Amino acid sequence: MTATTISAIESAAPPVTLPKLLSGQKALVTGASSGIGKAVATALGQAGADVVVNYVGNAAAADAVVEDIRKSGAKAYAHQADVSSEEEVAAMFTKMMQDFGTIDILVSNAGLQQDSAFPDMTLAQWNKVLSVNLTGQFLCAREAVREFLRRGVVPSVSSAAGKIICMSSVHQQIPWGGHVNYAASKGGIKLLMESMAQELAPQRIRVNAIAPGAIRTPINTSAWQTKEAYAALMTLIPYGRIGEPEDIARAAVWLASDHSDYVVGTTLFVDGGMTLYPGFATGG
Ligand code: NAD
Repeated sequence: MTATTISAIESAAPPVTLPKLLSGQKALVTGASSGIGKAVATALGQAGADVVVNYVGNAAAADAVVEDIRKSGAKAYAHQADVSSEEEVAAMFTKMMQDFGTIDILVSNAGLQQDSAFPDMTLAQWNKVLSVNLTGQFLCAREAVREFLRRGVVPSVSSAAGKIICMSSVHQQIPWGGHVNYAASKGGIKLLMESMAQELAPQRIRVNAIAPGAIRTPINTSAWQTKEAYAALMTLIPYGRIGEPEDIARAAVWLASDHSDYVVGTTLFVDGGMTLYPGFATGG
């Protein structure tokens, strides 16, 4: 391994101070106690939004995210709910309406993997991944859209009646053997997002997605934790570094803000070029 690669392991997204693009807005981030969701929730708070930090299991981690957001001057609280449960999602939105009055931004981020070679994949593994990654996005988006439609545009807050950001993956586009449930869920998110965007744009609701590449989070530790794994990963990433949760968080702030007001139904790939088929750079 070369010195260049070792320093790449330690590299991080360059520091950036976020402008207060989201002042006065109310946001909900699902799966926000770790990884990308934690970074997105924190960044939305730094950008001026009040944030509901959804989590499913780790209350202490969610509380720590809430504390971080409050330090930037925004309001925040943690709410436990399983996004694949219709009742728990409905209760989460009812509480948010009581505490924050409305919702302007939904970041549907909660997701998981249950990997298996295809012949061995159980129905339980298939159903679990589809119900959290895809049905969870449907349930949360439906509640958010109902509130966006009820409230409409408030021009002093945002030019849109509401913004939804679906956390997808490069695997909405890149097939992924050994992970067919995950890839199917992300492919589903692509057309869920685009169909919602098409249907709801006339009501000034903007629905978009972010497709992260390889981001340094707990979901994919095996892909970056050892030098060997990191070096193998780099063959897939033209930009030569792993993504950091902050890389995704900054994209989410922009997509949630009026700076992206004309962006509707788009998937923003934040992947260091992973979807550029780097294997073809020197051949093909
Ligand atoms: P992560 O495991 O840190 O985050 C996933 C979060 O979702 C966790 O906090 C988890 O508790 C939560 N969650 C799981 N089931 C839930 C449920 N039923 N209800 C509510 N929350 C639930 O991993 P991450 O990398 O931060 O993943 C966040 C999102 O980004 C996921 O949708 C993932 O598919 C996507 N993504 C990640 C990468 C990557 O390289 N890390 C790449 C592409 C897409």
